[in-house]
Amino acid sequence: MNAGPRAAAALDARAAAAAAAVDADAVVALAADLVRIPSVWRPEVPGANETAVASFLAGHLRGLGLAVTVAEAAPGRPNVVADWETGRPGRGLILEGHTDVVTEGEPAAWTDPPFAGVVRDGRLYGRGAADMKGGLAAAVGAIDAARRACPDLAGRVRLAAVADEEGLMLGIKALIRAGGAHGFDAAIVCEPEENELCLHQKGALRVLAMFRGRMAHGAMPYAGANPMPSAARFVLALGDEERREQARLGAHRFLGRPYITPTTVRAPAQGTPQFNVMAGEAQVTVDVRTIPGQDHAALVEALRAAAARAAAPDAGVSAAVELVEDRPWTETPADAPVVQALERAVRTALGREPAYGGVPGSTDGTFLHAWAGLPVVTVGPGSRQIPHQADEHVEIAELVAAARLYAAAIVYFLGEA
Ligand SMILES: [Zn+2]
Repeated sequence: MNAGPRAAAALDARAAAAAAAVDADAVVALAADLVRIPSVWRPEVPGANETAVASFLAGHLRGLGLAVTVAEAAPGRPNVVADWETGRPGRGLILEGHTDVVTEGEPAAWTDPPFAGVVRDGRLYGRGAADMKGGLAAAVGAIDAARRACPDLAGRVRLAAVADEEGLMLGIKALIRAGGAHGFDAAIVCEPEENELCLHQKGALRVLAMFRGRMAHGAMPYAGANPMPSAARFVLALGDEERREQARLGAHRFLGRPYITPTTVRAPAQGTPQFNVMAGEAQVTVDVRTIPGQDHAALVEALRAAAARAAAPDAGVSAAVELVEDRPWTETPADAPVVQALERAVRTALGREPAYGGVPGSTDGTFLHAWAGLPVVTVGPGSRQIPHQADEHVEIAELVAAARLYAAAIVYFLGEA
């Protein structure tokens, strides 16, 4: 719609009002509360999952007057969904984040206990402060502010706080399968990206290659078939394939170069290795990171062909390649309404021009785009370098700025329709 300058100015004023309505103290307090509820998934430890943090968050969201549902993606792995339904038809926007965090590692490496949620020197410290309980708290504060400042908007806003992003992304997959992204027009993924707008995200393939020969005594190798030379040829072929792809595509402006990395080589593939036993099976895992311009199906075919060439059928060694996970790269067009809304929101809420970045890993946004067809932009508070490290933290100013940015983006996205 080509709104006139007067309408645009009115919308700017409403977005500014929503940004100003963000309760900064409440955002910081919520982020700290979330950090203080550990949510590292440890299958061997009862209760070490997202249940406690999800039920706390659900209670908080109900307290704000949002319609909340909690559904388990897997036992002990609940997704929390909170909706602001305006009751008027319009666009639908999802603000997305995950409630799980990675392990704190060695507690002694931390200045403060990793789950203390200490606020000091303008920062909130703790596991998940940046990745991404800060982003979740900012999204909650934004929805609350937009709702209070602009109750007459049309459309709907959904907060999706899902489990298991750091694992197999069971949470977002279950949410999409259950129709939780259906009827929405775009998603903002609130991962730590220094509040830069990330329209591009790398893709990933997890590929497992198995070379099967026949086990034998080290003194009589002729009695078996050694799979290891085939595995070695395959590993070297991966380097050739990577160089070809890098030469073909160069470096993406926001994502850098594509990679094909052999991450583990194991022989025997299972069981205890022994000096005098020639393994019957050798397994190679390959972590492939892709950029726009790469065709995942073609890449998998190329790896299958490389494994077949590396095999030695005459010597009794076969090859099999299994695609374990496929996470396509994403590229959101600059003229997508969600991008336009976020660009205007940066100018209005933060008083500066937008900065742009790229997401080097995959996120839940990968599946919101690939499975649910939503345009996604990743933007959130916290340094891109800090996640998964000791003394993880988020700058309070950046955290609050993210909340104001999201609040203004909600108004622009819903208000422009
Ligand atoms: Zn994350």
